[in-house]
Amino acid sequence: MSIDLHAHTAASDGTTPPGELGALAREAGLDVVAITDHDTTAGWARAAAALPPGVSLVRGAEVSCSAEGVSLHLLAYLFDPGEPAFAAARAALRESRRTRAQRMVDSLAAAGTGVTWEQVQDLAGGTVGRPHVAQALLAAGCVPTLADAFTPEWIGTGGRHWAGKLELDVQEAIGLVRAAGGVCVFAHPGASARGRTVSDAAVVAMAGAGLAGLEVDHVDHTEQARSHLRGLAAGLGLLTTGSSDFHGGNKTVALGAHTTSPEVYEALVGQASGVPVVSG
Ligand code: AMP
Ligand code: ZN
Ligand code: FE
Ligand code: FE
Repeated sequence: MSIDLHAHTAASDGTTPPGELGALAREAGLDVVAITDHDTTAGWARAAAALPPGVSLVRGAEVSCSAEGVSLHLLAYLFDPGEPAFAAARAALRESRRTRAQRMVDSLAAAGTGVTWEQVQDLAGGTVGRPHVAQALLAAGCVPTLADAFTPEWIGTGGRHWAGKLELDVQEAIGLVRAAGGVCVFAHPGASARGRTVSDAAVVAMAGAGLAGLEVDHVDHTEQARSHLRGLAAGLGLLTTGSSDFHGGNKTVALGAHTTSPEVYEALVGQASGVPVVSG
């Protein structure tokens, strides 16, 4: 069994149409793929309706959170999308992403880049994110690659044209996901190249709030970070996953680049009760 529990589609800042995720998973030799767009379930129905035989879909989302004043991402799987409290929280996160992207575009327009809100809206087929603003900067010839937009001069965290967005307190978010029947994994906890990461104490608190696992095998983790996270997970009784964090053409990592063991997958599914895994 080959299992990848973290993939983005065009419903957020990936480039693959949700209806093509299943076919791509099959090409990559996966038996299980999770759809985890930022703060939305908008791609679920299209992804579920187009699963090839032999591919199973875990419906999920990657939720914008913070702890200790640091932004972090929480993977939420198999929650009921209609549960009102968590649905309202996701809607608030998306609305804040829209207004903050407008603020970044206003700042970039004032600096004479020629980037417009219409253009960024066209680039975003669903939840808007910094990768869409980065695409507009690339198209305007302001940066040579998408990664070059994530710097202090442009829209890197705290950068000149960056604007912050709403983030849920992670312990509250874990409570919301669990109340909606879902199960939570802390996404790329040790991705220090992207910015600040939270302390081990924050992970201990998350475990206390009902976190199920840590994403350990991830493209943004060094070997040292992985071994530290494995030790932390073992001490706290947390599961450990591996996943690609596939973003289509917006990142270089391939679908299935990292995978999760069948035992961990079964344990995660066993803790969830919101919606079932969909089989192709
Ligand atoms: P946002 O959630 O809108 O603040 O945008 C953050 C997203 O931008 C992350 O989820 C990544 O997909 C992407 N990102 C962050 N840092 C970089 C980087 N250095 N290069 C390319 N993409 C990045
Ligand atoms: Zn993303
Ligand atoms: Fe993430
Ligand atoms: Fe992600």
